[in-house]
Amino acid sequence: MRKFIFLFAVCATLASCKISEEVPSTPHSINPMTTSKIFDPHSAATSDARVTHLHWTANVNVETHVITANASYDFKAEKGAKQISFDTKDLNIEWVKVNGRLARYTLDEEKPFLGQALHVEIRDIDNLVSIQYTTSPNAEALLWVEKENELPFLFSQSQAILARTWIPCQDSPSVRFTYSADVTVPKELMALMSAENPQVKSPDGKYHFEMKQRIPSYLLALAVGDVAFKSLSENTGVYATADILELAFNEFSDMPGMVKAAEDLYGPYAWERYDVLVLPGAFPFGGMENPRLTFATPTILAGDKSLVSLIAHELAHSWSGNLVTNATWNDFWLNEGFTVYFEQRIMESLFGKAKAEMLATLARQDLNATLAELPAEDTHLKLALENRNPDDGMNDIAYNKGYFFLRTIEEKVGREKFDAFLKNYFQSHAFGVMTTEGFIDILTAELLTKEQADEIGIDQWIYSAGLPANTAVVQSAELEKVDELRLKWEADEITNKELPWNNWSYQERYRFLSNVNFNLSLSKIQSLDESFHISKIGNSEVLFAWFMLSIQAKNEAVFADLATFLEKVGRRKFVAPLYEAMENSGYHVTALSIYGHCRGNYHAVTQNTVDETLHYFEK
Ligand SMILES: [Zn+2]
Repeated sequence: MRKFIFLFAVCATLASCKISEEVPSTPHSINPMTTSKIFDPHSAATSDARVTHLHWTANVNVETHVITANASYDFKAEKGAKQISFDTKDLNIEWVKVNGRLARYTLDEEKPFLGQALHVEIRDIDNLVSIQYTTSPNAEALLWVEKENELPFLFSQSQAILARTWIPCQDSPSVRFTYSADVTVPKELMALMSAENPQVKSPDGKYHFEMKQRIPSYLLALAVGDVAFKSLSENTGVYATADILELAFNEFSDMPGMVKAAEDLYGPYAWERYDVLVLPGAFPFGGMENPRLTFATPTILAGDKSLVSLIAHELAHSWSGNLVTNATWNDFWLNEGFTVYFEQRIMESLFGKAKAEMLATLARQDLNATLAELPAEDTHLKLALENRNPDDGMNDIAYNKGYFFLRTIEEKVGREKFDAFLKNYFQSHAFGVMTTEGFIDILTAELLTKEQADEIGIDQWIYSAGLPANTAVVQSAELEKVDELRLKWEADEITNKELPWNNWSYQERYRFLSNVNFNLSLSKIQSLDESFHISKIGNSEVLFAWFMLSIQAKNEAVFADLATFLEKVGRRKFVAPLYEAMENSGYHVTALSIYGHCRGNYHAVTQNTVDETLHYFEK
């Protein structure tokens, strides 16, 4: 997933389900952790009864916002196992059958974040469980987007633990299964999943899906909308609504080259096709790496391909995350740190070292801001999220501290050795899961000498707060030049005209705006808009930096544009810091008024964060 820089408060203590997990071993693995018991505090699934395949039958009602469905699972249980357990949240269970007969089941008491565990009685001869249920109109994973004069659009966002709000499942990243599905939708809409997908609408609204590779539940995905497909190459393409299909097609023209660059680095792409679906603006993330079909925010359609690194990021997840998956959300850096590293390498292959170093330098800027805000214990790579929402770990530590750890290793051993190690790592552990400890064992057995491991200080990186002194240094001459000009401009040594704004890349513009001293005179801040028309710019990252600066500088002239942006866009990375900045700059009432108007447009993950920031329910 890409990407959530904003920080939010840790909340609540709650009971957890104790389970122990057996991680499937892989034939080439030398990792002792892969056969030992591990603990996922966010799932009720147990190691003695595990699902292997899901067949999902569903009818999507876009008027009532309800999915009526059946989840039938093949499973394997250890001899003597008395029950199989699933995670559910806000589901209305109608009946449960085991091997064709109605079965006895119990639902645990509702727990914060986790929902209700469902336990189904089984016998030794059983291998099939079938659950008939309906979803709640408020299912947290699902957003039903309705706009005047447009057909409805539905999309899901399952990561981290929201799959359980639309499918009863063993909702731990350590449980992998294949799936198939038969989905019925209104015939003017197309259904798409993280599976083999249609390229044209079916005349009767019925769609069949197959996902033949084993995936964890957080990669279950569904979208239903009035979309069309356009091919980019033999195995890549884009889905979008008609109004933005051409724009998306042009914006993503580098995708086939990215797949090639990624394969050259770390081995064959394992999922056959790589397509991207552009979602409505309410999508809460930049992108979600649903296998075969990345879900993406329309805010990356800048019109000049400048935000295409997001596609490199989601594509990279086809290896880091989707192929080798973090065993629990405490190991989230294994998914995201690897992916940021891989994303930078793809960008370097396609656009050169200078561009990649600009991105890495901005990553360091974001990381410094995050380190300054988070409590120390949340800045370890290995997290302890028991009794907490796993969303609490989805910040720059996993992404960018993870990236800098891997880059520091690369610089220690040399790129050639590191690449060979990573390529082998992805191949040896394909379709498996990995714990932090398991990865460290592999790293020290296969790549690092004892001396190198000591010099890197692995334990300090993984289990201590902050950034070690040996962190790889990134340098961008372009961004240093921007800093130099900004200081001169702030000191009135140069005028707006002497800023090379029109020649700057978006990274240079972002660097400038995100570092301007907001205590300068209001007229000086406003002069930037007069000179460069920033409030009307198409690049969402630059626009975001401008709105952040304007809120802090009390530049109320842009508030109408800001309100329009917040109405159109539900991407949490932008929305949450903007509301927080308003809250912290004396605009609580304005923030509440805009939020009251927009809240219904946002996905639950964005709502949950902003509710907390603005104390929405505490009035
Ligand atoms: Zn990601």
